[in-house]
Amino acid sequence: MIVDCHAHWGMVWEERDHGNPSKFLEILDRHKIASTYLMGFLNLIRQDLSPQDNDTLANLAKQAPNRIFPLATTWPQLGEGAIREFIRCVEDLKVTGFKFHPWMQGFSLTDPTFAKICGLAGELQVPIFFHDGTPCYSLPEQIGALASRFPKTRFVLGHAGLLWTWRSAILAAQRKNVWICLCGPHARAIELICERVAPDRILWGSDWGPRFTDDIEYRLNLFLKTKVPSKLQELILGVNPMRLLDYS
Ligand SMILES: [Zn+2]
Repeated sequence: MIVDCHAHWGMVWEERDHGNPSKFLEILDRHKIASTYLMGFLNLIRQDLSPQDNDTLANLAKQAPNRIFPLATTWPQLGEGAIREFIRCVEDLKVTGFKFHPWMQGFSLTDPTFAKICGLAGELQVPIFFHDGTPCYSLPEQIGALASRFPKTRFVLGHAGLLWTWRSAILAAQRKNVWICLCGPHARAIELICERVAPDRILWGSDWGPRFTDDIEYRLNLFLKTKVPSKLQELILGVNPMRLLDYS
């Protein structure tokens, strides 16, 4: 089984398909991807339209149960409004988790409202995914520091440090509440990550969806052609993504 832990409902999809996931799911079928963690894109660049995009993600998931796991977002700059939206997404929209892109959304990981959100995510048992691998607000070191402050919250490095900071991502993922999604590092870095990070906290993702281009084949083959043992590949592709949601 393959679960893609990093995909986006890009604005081009919404403009063309108006909340209908069937064409999106066809691409998953083409690559035999069972399900996907689905992030927005509009909600990461437009504070004002973010709740609307969160609604869209939840509606897509309703049409594809067990195939689409929606990841909403909120904007810490809104203070209490951000907390209200966070709770609405969990309680009303029943989202699977959250995605934050501190670099694009323009907030610091030391933001006090964001600290409240991280605490709530631990209490409500929803994982937080991050864009990571770029300064100045999205470095794995910074996310690792956050994970130390909130040990009950599960944090996912959505890019495993990208091409430049994957070594820091390995260090950040030594914490038991930090997961790492192979989506960005080159093949040799992927192999080293798989040697050095706990095998049950590694995920795989493609980052496809912001445009209509199909990036899944490249990212999947990059991973499958590494020297990562096949048993570990199976864990990463199919078992760990479901483990992430198991808080028992
Ligand atoms: Zn992404």
